[in-house]
Amino acid sequence: MTPEEFRRHGRQVVDWIADYLAGVASHPVMSQVKPGEIRDALPARPPERGEPFEAVLADLDRILLPGITHWQHPGFFGYFPSNASGPAILGDLLSSGLGVQGMLWVTSPACTELETVVVDWLADLLGLPAHFRTDARGGGVIQDSASSACLVALLAALHRAGGGRVAVEGIDRRYTLYVSSQTHSSLEKAARIAGLGAAGVRVVDVDPGTLAMDPERLRTVLAKDVAAGAVPAMVCATVGTTSTTAIDPVAAIGEVCREHGVWLHVDAAYAGVAAVCPEFRWLNDGLGEYADSYSTNPHKWLLTNFDCNVLWTADRTPLIGALSILPEYLTNAATSAGSVVDYRDWQVPLGRRFRALKLWSVIRWYGAEGLRAHIRKCVGLAADVASWIAADPGFELHEQPPLGLVCFRPLWPGLVAAEADRATTRLMELLNAGGSLYLTHTRVAGRVVLRLAVGGAATERRHVEQAWEQIRWEHAALSATLPG
Ligand SMILES: *Cc1c(COP(=O)(O)O)cnc(C)c1O
Repeated sequence: MTPEEFRRHGRQVVDWIADYLAGVASHPVMSQVKPGEIRDALPARPPERGEPFEAVLADLDRILLPGITHWQHPGFFGYFPSNASGPAILGDLLSSGLGVQGMLWVTSPACTELETVVVDWLADLLGLPAHFRTDARGGGVIQDSASSACLVALLAALHRAGGGRVAVEGIDRRYTLYVSSQTHSSLEKAARIAGLGAAGVRVVDVDPGTLAMDPERLRTVLAKDVAAGAVPAMVCATVGTTSTTAIDPVAAIGEVCREHGVWLHVDAAYAGVAAVCPEFRWLNDGLGEYADSYSTNPHKWLLTNFDCNVLWTADRTPLIGALSILPEYLTNAATSAGSVVDYRDWQVPLGRRFRALKLWSVIRWYGAEGLRAHIRKCVGLAADVASWIAADPGFELHEQPPLGLVCFRPLWPGLVAAEADRATTRLMELLNAGGSLYLTHTRVAGRVVLRLAVGGAATERRHVEQAWEQIRWEHAALSATLPG
């Protein structure tokens, strides 16, 4: 493709995206295709001869769009949001256009240095502790996901717990990781990858009301393990759990970690970015005193296209110690002089994309003010939905922190728990088949609970009003068909 051809097709693609975003609400939110339908519509073999780019765009419309679940639809309330925005898309496009592979400072100094500036900016915007900044002992790094961030944190924690021996000797059965029943599954995955195995993961009880980790239980479990010869490597506290945005008591957990010299990782993948608003700075409580690492995802709620996670550490030495290997073919003067950051030593892969461009574009386009307005809009709309649910005798609201996620249960008088859970699931399926909204579910205390996450850039008051109308209507209609 020549630069002139690129210019022509590039304009077509940008127009396609602009039209898509302008009309996203006209699609059913959740893709309604059956398994295999998209695959069957595509040729089984690649073309022998090149095709015009228009053919790709035509198939995008005809074959792929029906198989898309529209995460940017204003009625998308499932999981957590995965915000896209104009500046992020354009920043990503520029990154692709440059085609830079930023493994080392020397392979594109701007790729590394912009990343350093942007993660320090984000630390400022979120009010994170000063020692997380790159000009202090710590530093931030962009990762593809919170899952990679917790794996990298665990590797650094193992490095520190083993006094540097893990990188040489590997790990033995003694190393342990502490999570709660509400911790994201990526922590157990990290334990499997790092070699602790699921057997090395200790699940600490939560408070049954708040679903937050019980620090006294952690103290007991840790002390027992240490007495039995275990080497606790890391505790993961979550600020805003995936299921219900429960918040673990970071400071109390940190106290326990300190007693045993255990690494504290704080996973705030979804909720952490809300700290752009001063009224949510309490989300950072305990980080400055206790956290060894912290991560949040601009790619969930902060208007930055997937993928963009930021991991900060209070002290970068164990992280680099765990991951740095310098083969001859990567040696260069800047690295040898120790005067630059090489982010390949802060992540699992060697190669890395120029992701800082999209986060930079987002922060510059919206400014701190615009980012705060987005978070406040979502939190406000979610609070409205929660108040409507609380006031409706047909539903039960699950009380939780005001972080854009509403969890609730439709009530089914006359049905026993298992039947009621099936009716709740049926209600969710009917709503999602309707096309104008998309909800997902979780379980709280054994019961099926619906989750409505308000996080979309395009979501406005009328969309949550319509969603609530529809939930009530569909609940009433389904109730009328049930016995009792
Ligand atoms: C979403 C989520 C994750 C996983 O995020 P990825 O970036 O998709 O890996 C981890 N922890 C929490 C609390 C989450 O909500």
